[in-house]
Amino acid sequence: MVDRSRVYSTEAVVLRHSDFGEADRLLTVYTPELGKLRLLAKGIRKPRSRKAGHLELFTRSQLLVARGRNLDMVTQAQTIEAYRALRLDLWRMSHAYYIGELVDNFGEEQAENAPLYLLLSQALDWICASTDLPLTMRFFELSLLKLVGYQPQLFQCVRCLAPLLPVVNFFSAEDGGMLCPACAEGRGGARAISVGALKVLRYLQTRPYADCMLLKLQPATRLEVEQVLQAYLVYLLERRLKSVEFMRLVRNGAQALYP
Ligand SMILES: [Zn+2]
Repeated sequence: MVDRSRVYSTEAVVLRHSDFGEADRLLTVYTPELGKLRLLAKGIRKPRSRKAGHLELFTRSQLLVARGRNLDMVTQAQTIEAYRALRLDLWRMSHAYYIGELVDNFGEEQAENAPLYLLLSQALDWICASTDLPLTMRFFELSLLKLVGYQPQLFQCVRCLAPLLPVVNFFSAEDGGMLCPACAEGRGGARAISVGALKVLRYLQTRPYADCMLLKLQPATRLEVEQVLQAYLVYLLERRLKSVEFMRLVRNGAQALYP
């Protein structure tokens, strides 16, 4: 007899997997209602496993999961979308790894974020078909930042709130957006952004994907947009890593105080 409360069903995209034991695999998946989950897939590395094909990296599947004491366990898996074009093309696949890592790093465990799940599955579709993968990545990065609460302010100065003039302005990762030239003075770490690059960033932040993919960018603008987004993502990830470290310190400290 199956105790229903011990079992749940969810859609999921596999973000990461690692071998575990003799024939098992640990999966990190992203789901619409439960955010990021770590699951155990037993026997999946056996040659005749029926689940294996449905739990490949970046496969979108319907899962049946049994709650476990330490780890929940996948009991059934059925592919919804295999994103086959990814698997035939290493270049496309490398972009799937990139977005998978961003979702893994910014996605919260056991926290619903259905829009982020939708973005992830859409982005895998885009990667299968994109004729400009770097531009697809920039669109993805800005969409992700919005959905995880770090949308950069690109329209007004984050310090004095004045609308930005069409001159060279500055991006400050620490402030989460643009600074006007006056506010940027003496602000370490703020980076100059050309008028052209700011226009592209705003366009990517506010227009639908299909419109953005029609952009034809100068190589210099393309590089500038990539670099500012990379710098912002690295800044945020380092800060997140530090807060995780801090939480661990606090937890260990508390255990030492109250064994
Ligand atoms: Zn200002």
